[in-house]
Order: sequence, then C-alpha cells, then structure tokens
Amino acid sequence: MGRQKTIGRPITCSGIGLHSGQEVSMNLCPSPPDTGIIFRRMDLPDTPVVQARPENILDVHYATTLGKAGVEVKTVEHLLAALAGLGIDNLMVEISGPEVPVMDGSAAPFVDLLLQAGIRRHYVPKTYIVVTKPLVIEMGNRSIQILPSKRFRIHYSMGFDHPRFPEQSIELLISRRTFIRKIAPSRTYGFLRDVEYLWRRGLALGGSLENTVVIGDEGPLNDLRFGDELIRHKVLDLIGDLYLLGRPLQGTVVAKGAGHLLHTTLVREIQRHLESDQVSRCVVAAPEPLSFPVPASAKPLGSPAV
Ligand SMILES: [Zn+2]
Repeated sequence: MGRQKTIGRPITCSGIGLHSGQEVSMNLCPSPPDTGIIFRRMDLPDTPVVQARPENILDVHYATTLGKAGVEVKTVEHLLAALAGLGIDNLMVEISGPEVPVMDGSAAPFVDLLLQAGIRRHYVPKTYIVVTKPLVIEMGNRSIQILPSKRFRIHYSMGFDHPRFPEQSIELLISRRTFIRKIAPSRTYGFLRDVEYLWRRGLALGGSLENTVVIGDEGPLNDLRFGDELIRHKVLDLIGDLYLLGRPLQGTVVAKGAGHLLHTTLVREIQRHLESDQVSRCVVAAPEPLSFPVPASAKPLGSPAV
C-alpha cells in the first residue's frame, strides 16, 4: 500500500478471445510511474495504444471494449480486475490482436502470471479516489450506487432468471487476499438458451466449457468452483470495470442486477465529478503521503532497465 506498483519483469501469455475466438498473445511489461494501464496493438501499423481510461470506453455489450481513433481492445475486464486486485498501477500490455485472451474465464491465470513476474514498487505515491458523498444510478429495477466508507467494499445482488439460480448476493471487503481467494477464480458464465443468439451476433465464438460456466435448463454443465460462482464473477467484472478510473476506490459499491453498462456508467459519473470542481459534492482524489524517505540514488522503476 502507499506506493505505485508495476511488475518486476515482462511476461507472456496466449489464448483465444472469448467473443472473437481469435488466437492472441500478450506481453505484460513493466511501466513507469503515473502511466497507468496501457494496451498496445502490436498487430497494427505503428502499434497504436489505448489507455484504460473512462474516456476510452467504447462498448459494454457482454464485455468491456476500449477504443480510441479506430483502435479497439475487447474484453479487458478480467485482466483489469487482476491488476486492481494486486494493486498494480502501471503496466504496458502488448497484444497481438483485438481481444484479451479469455484463459479459463476467470482472473486467476492473470493473477498467477503477474505474481510470477513479481510486483515492484515505484518511489511514487499511489493516489486513491475517496468517495465523500453518495452517487446513485438507476435503470429500471437495476441500480448501482457508491457510498462513503473507509475501505473498498462491494455488495452485489442479482437474479439470474433460472430455477437453480433464482437470486444470489454477496458482500465483501475487497482486500488483496479476498480478491485472490474468493473472487479471482470465479469464471464467466452463459446460458445455453442464449448461445445461438450470441453466435448470430458474432459473440461468444471462443466460448467453451474450458472457459465458461455453461448453464443448461437443468443447471451448470461443468463443475462450479463456488456455489455462488455467478455472483462472484459479477463482482470480478465490477472490480475490473471500476479500475478504468485508473486508481483504487475507497467507498462501498452496492449493485443490484447490474452489468457492464451500469458499472461503466458509474465510472463515467465518478470521473465527471472528479473533472468538475465540485469535489465537495461527491468525490475527491486523496493522495497518500509518502511515509518513507526516498533514497537520493533511487532509480525510478520503469525507466528502461528491467
Ligand atoms: Zn466477466
């Protein structure tokens, strides 16, 4: 806590995109302080970049897609959740195609990979977004709100329109440990009844029992990792989407029947309040003071080296 973080060394993974079905490889590389999470499309001329920022949210149907000047990166939320969970602030993600690989459908493979690369601290303080007044967003009977609190908590509830999963809810204090053990392993899910509709729309083309909890009329076709894996995965998606703010949040998020659209609407709303000067109305960025001396010889991490 306290200082910004990146990873110790570059590390590579590959797999297929959940929606595109396209094979893609990804290099995760250490990055300098205050640069945030940046995706670089290695397969396009001039290797253009898209930063994980609220203004680059392009599409939120069934996954979160970032885009800028015609350059897209789809399904960023599970990787972003892993970065949020481990407190990694700065990273360059070099990617060879338009979609982040789905791996096993959860954030656990990304957590393993990042831990393998090692976490390195910069000599630069981390900043947080501290919620000082509630923000509420409602869409019909779905809603999301953020309330002031000293820690980052999530309360998520959802009905799944299925006899085996009528309603699930979970309330968690999100720490690194909680994230790794209780949230990261939960996989994305889909209903068999929706598959044809999704395929017709060019979605879920890479989906399989290897990377998705598939739910038929009688129940899940694969073994669940948690009895309430579906709602845990909603929390995973929410953590990933909230990390588009580029900084960790201090506040309690209460989501009811939400999804990427409400998650990212909240992100934009928090960002809007940060950009306006009406911070007293809503949120303020609270830099955490450095609590240690910075050695004069300290080399900033991320300068070409590691
Ligand atoms: Zn997801």
